[in-house]
Amino acid sequence: MHKYNCWYQSIEDPNSRYNIGEIIYRCPKTGSLLEVEHDLEELKERSPESWKELFDTRYRKRKWPYGSGVWGKKEWVAPFIDDENIVSMYEGDTNLFWAEKYGNQIGVEDLWIKMCGNSHTGSFKDLGMTVLISAVKQLIADGKEIKAVACASTGDTSAALSAYCAAAGLKSIVFLPRNKVSIAQLVQPLANGAKVLSLDTDFDGCMKIVQEVCDKQNIYLANSINSLRIEGQKTISIEICQQFNWDVPDWVIIPGGNLGNISALGKGFLMLKNLGLIKKLPRLVCAQAENANPLYVSYLNKFKSFKPLKATTTYASAIQIGDPVSINKAINILKIFDGIVEQASEEELATSSAKMDLTGTFNCPHTGVAVTAFEKLVNKKIINKKDKVVIISTAHGLKFVDFKINYHLENLKGISNKFANHPIEIEASTDKIIKTIESQSF
Ligand SMILES: *Cc1c(COP(=O)(O)O)cnc(C)c1O
Repeated sequence: MHKYNCWYQSIEDPNSRYNIGEIIYRCPKTGSLLEVEHDLEELKERSPESWKELFDTRYRKRKWPYGSGVWGKKEWVAPFIDDENIVSMYEGDTNLFWAEKYGNQIGVEDLWIKMCGNSHTGSFKDLGMTVLISAVKQLIADGKEIKAVACASTGDTSAALSAYCAAAGLKSIVFLPRNKVSIAQLVQPLANGAKVLSLDTDFDGCMKIVQEVCDKQNIYLANSINSLRIEGQKTISIEICQQFNWDVPDWVIIPGGNLGNISALGKGFLMLKNLGLIKKLPRLVCAQAENANPLYVSYLNKFKSFKPLKATTTYASAIQIGDPVSINKAINILKIFDGIVEQASEEELATSSAKMDLTGTFNCPHTGVAVTAFEKLVNKKIINKKDKVVIISTAHGLKFVDFKINYHLENLKGISNKFANHPIEIEASTDKIIKTIESQSF
């Protein structure tokens, strides 16, 4: 395969260029975030129609690794990685679910849920992690010394990191805020053999420490400050257009915490437009939990200023972040996409999540945050009833069964539990059961 050119570039200086084979996470001159930049002129040598055809012939097929939703777009993602170093578990290719019943309730017929949580480790973090771990294998093959890969996590990044490291034969170390991740999220890295460090701090505290540790050791940093992750995550946008037969939705709504993903979503759409595969851009919405809403606060102020804050407990634990690493990228993207930031209270996210489940999903609390944002924007008539809307569902509900069962058992403090559904404990007697069924309203 032709090796298309890409490099690291500072987000503040388009003239900066750093070799993609170096281990750097920030611009060595200014400390600003980096992004992977692709040689668009080179990519334009292939026509838009021909790119579509190439991506479509690979999509969901078995020719390894190109059947993966990420590696099927390898030329646009990480062309510098040799196929033999790719660590793939067939990521992406997730269902774009037509939420007909739920959409009808709200009056928006063209509503779609991109089920990114139906994946190897149960969240969309697999998309970026396959790229990062493959790059680590490439770096090692090229002679770099890396003794382990580490991340701070609110649960899903650590699950993806440890699974991909285990598959690659690499050591992983994860830094988790103690008692702030779900049991399912804690058990995933344990099962995959990661060193799990459970720290008495929050995510922002873990993030600070992991950067210091990685700076001092030959340990590679896997958080989304590392722009290789963004390259994998951006394939969500490409895949959505592909699933719509290269049509573009009017809106894409995603829950945001560390804000790498809202940035990635934008990057994917921009690349599609710059390379001529699509003609217009969607509007993007980033949805935050009210208890962890620094971007929302900045949005209210038209992004004139930004202040990190101390995030407080939210059921949407994967986005309980007060000092997002990718804030500058996110703000840049939201400005380009005429973006909106919305927020959801605990009551709202729990209610939206349960309400939508009644139409057949089993969604996570973060998806509940995005669904709340959707409903609010429809009510404000910002989203029109005829618009084509995609909500990104970021994790599988089965990772958050504590939250979900406690909702139904009415154990969530301060939440109204409007859609709670209790198990009926009943004697194993046909008569009694028939009587009970007759007395219930269905
Ligand atoms: C990581 C994550 C998010 C948010 O992504 P960011 O890039 O941190 O903004 C949302 N939902 C789930 C389930 C996640 O794991």
